[in-house]
Amino acid sequence: AKAKGEGSIEIFDPSMNAQALARFHMDADLRRALERNEFVLHYQPVVGLRTGRIEGFEALVRWRHPERGMVPPLEFIPLAEETGLIVPLGKWVLEEACRQAGEWRRKFPTGQPRLMNVNISARQFQHRDLIHTVLGALHAADLEPGSLKLEITESIMMRDPEASLEAMKVFRSMDIHLVVDDFGTGYSSLGYLKRFPVDTLKIDKSFVEGIGRDPESSAIVAAVISLARSLGMRVTAEGIETQEQMQHLQRLHCDQGQGYHFSRPLPPEAAEALLAQDPRW
Ligand code: C2E
Ligand code: CA
Ligand code: CA
Ligand code: CA
Repeated sequence: AKAKGEGSIEIFDPSMNAQALARFHMDADLRRALERNEFVLHYQPVVGLRTGRIEGFEALVRWRHPERGMVPPLEFIPLAEETGLIVPLGKWVLEEACRQAGEWRRKFPTGQPRLMNVNISARQFQHRDLIHTVLGALHAADLEPGSLKLEITESIMMRDPEASLEAMKVFRSMDIHLVVDDFGTGYSSLGYLKRFPVDTLKIDKSFVEGIGRDPESSAIVAAVISLARSLGMRVTAEGIETQEQMQHLQRLHCDQGQGYHFSRPLPPEAAEALLAQDPRW
C-alpha cells in the first residue's frame, strides 16, 4: 500500500476497486466542470406535425470538456444523479434554459409563446427546493411560467405517485406545463395517469423507431395517441428520423414531433438561426 502524505486524502484504499476509483475522479471532475462553467445546452426543435412550425425546444445538456470535447449526457447524468450533483447541475440547466427562452421570446415575439422543455431527474424532482428553483429561474429570466414545460419520466412519477401528484399540482397551479417523458418504457398505472395534471405524453423513440417495421411498436404508438386523446392530453413523438415515420404519425394525428428528420439538437446560435427562418418541414 502507498504511504499517505501529510493531509492527503486516502484515494489508494486497496478496497476501492478500479470502477469506484474512476467514479470518484469523475465526480470531482463534474464538480469542477460546474464551477468552471463547462456545461452547455443544446436545443432540439419541437415541431407541430400539422403546421411544420417550431413550437418549442427541448434543452439537452452537454459537457464541453477541455480535452475530450462534447461529452453526451448519458456519460455523466447517471453519476450526477447518484452523487446528488444533479441538483445544482439541474438548477443551472433550468436557469440557462429559461434565460435562453426569455431572450428568444423577446427577439422573436409570437402570439403563442414557444415552449422550453427541460428534463427533470428523480433526485431533482424529489428535492423540496425544486419549486423555488423553478420560480427563481423564471423570475430571473423574466419569462412567463406558461413558457416552461418540465419533462418527468413515468418511472419517476410512479416511484411515489401520491407525492408526485402533489408536486405536479403545485406546478400546474403556477401554469407550468408537465410532460410524461419516455412514455411506454416504464409502468404507469392508467388510474394515476388520469389523475396526474399532465398536458403531454412523449412517446419514446424506441417505439417510433419500430414504426412500419414491427407491428408491436406501431400498435403501441397508435394506442398511446388514442389514450392521450381520450385523456385530453397532447402527444409528442421523439426520435423521428424518416419521412415515413413522420407521415405515419401525422396520419394518427400525433400533435408534435422531434427528431433528426427535423433537426438534431443544436448549439444556441444554430437554434437561433433556425428560429429566425421558422422553417416548415
Ligand atoms: P431524452 O430526454 O429521452 O432525450 C432524447 C434523446 O434522444 C436526446 O439524447 C436526443 O439528442 C436524442 N434524439 C433526438 N432526436 C433523435 C433521433 O431522431 N434519433 C435518435 N437516435 N436520437 C435522437 P441526448 O441529448 O444524448 O440525451 C440523452 C438523455 O440524457 C435524455 O433522454 C435525458 O434523459 C438525459 N438528459 C439530457 N439533458 C438533460 C438535462 O438537462 N437534465 C436531465 N436530468 N437529464 C438530461
Ligand atoms: Ca426528454
Ligand atoms: Ca426518450
Ligand atoms: Ca429520458
